[in-house]
Amino acid sequence: MPTARSWRAYPQTYRLEAARCSKCGKAFFPPRLVCNKCNGRQFEHFDMKRTGKVVTHTIIRTPSDEFSGQAPFALGIIQMDDGPRLTSQIVDVPLEDVRIGMPVKLEFRRVSSEGEAGAIQYGHKAVPARD
Ligand SMILES: [Zn+2]
Repeated sequence: MPTARSWRAYPQTYRLEAARCSKCGKAFFPPRLVCNKCNGRQFEHFDMKRTGKVVTHTIIRTPSDEFSGQAPFALGIIQMDDGPRLTSQIVDVPLEDVRIGMPVKLEFRRVSSEGEAGAIQYGHKAVPARD
């Protein structure tokens, strides 16, 4: 399980807390202070639904050190059903089967570990959604 420290530090990460602009309705993840569409500064926070679709994806074969044990892996831009787009690893599916438009859902998984004695980082990964 994630450490207490990381749970407190990143509530929007594990709850998928997003913000919807009160003026124009655009949704952001992670939340932001100023809307980039209408410059509005009032937001309603909400927990995003975990479902979305793959917009585009690529295969990472030579990742940065923190992900070195995991290559190759698929990295995708996910269009969430609630509006925001985010970048996520796509797992639990063969690399050659990842498709644009594929329905996915986000699950909370271990993302990386910082060295042998370091903290394990948790975050969301996209997995194929079963209809
Ligand atoms: Zn706005």
